[in-house]
Amino acid sequence: MPASEEAVEAVSEILSRVGHGGGVAVELPLEGGTSHLVKAYLPYDRVARVRVRRVREALGHLAAFDLAPLGALEVRRIADEDWLTAWREHYRPVVVGRFLIKPTWVDVERTDHIVVELDPGMAFGTGLHPTTQQMLEALSSLDLGGKSVLDVGTGSGILALAARAAGAGRVEAVDIDPVAVRTARENVARTSIVVREGSAADVGGAFDVVLANIVARVIGELAPALRARTARGGTLLVAGLIRDAEEAARAALEASGFRVTSRDERGDWVALVCN
Ligand code: SAH
Repeated sequence: MPASEEAVEAVSEILSRVGHGGGVAVELPLEGGTSHLVKAYLPYDRVARVRVRRVREALGHLAAFDLAPLGALEVRRIADEDWLTAWREHYRPVVVGRFLIKPTWVDVERTDHIVVELDPGMAFGTGLHPTTQQMLEALSSLDLGGKSVLDVGTGSGILALAARAAGAGRVEAVDIDPVAVRTARENVARTSIVVREGSAADVGGAFDVVLANIVARVIGELAPALRARTARGGTLLVAGLIRDAEEAARAALEASGFRVTSRDERGDWVALVCN
């Protein structure tokens, strides 16, 4: 299913409802292109047709919300023995900043990178979403040793896991989407990370580092709660701001008492570091 950069997250979420293990693969656009390709693999069983129909309906609703341009959904049957292999082949280890993100079933040679293990969910594809990459790079440049970290909008839990692997102490994560909470809980199962359903206002106390990779409108709305959760002298990392909406989100953050100390732009996506 081809989708524009703005629509990729929404399309991935829809396909992940039917994809084997909740997984989707996102292929980044080829040089010069704009369309991402989102793929899901599902078993060809009695309910496959129903699943495909549900996907078509949900994609139709997306188009109605103007999250276009979306391409046409392509459905193809592949040989039984190939499909699990094909599905798994999409999840290759990715190096971002100091981190190496890898699915649990891939072994890596000894590496100097901080290894983060995570099974696919909507936030994980062949390459990670540019906003996730920006967050991981920003995390790479912080000294997280013993710090407390709150990940707001944790999705698959990737940033919380990365922070923990980089030496953070207490790590908590929240997401308003129950599906994300379930996926994140599976991914953090062997760690001390606590995942809650809810948002920044549903957590108590203040954290040394707060992470929020969510769309600009939500960042703007959450600004006061993010301020309340960020300890004095602490750091807030935000990403997911489309350039056109950056100003408004930034104004809301500044009005809540944050100061923007650095900015990164990738494609249309802006990430900010605030104190
Ligand atoms: N942190 C992950 C996922 C980002 S996707 C990464 O960097 O890759 C954004 C997530 O924010 C989604 O899982 C969505 O459910 C969640 N979200 C959206 N609005 C939210 C809100 N108001 N509070 C908390 N989480 C929210």
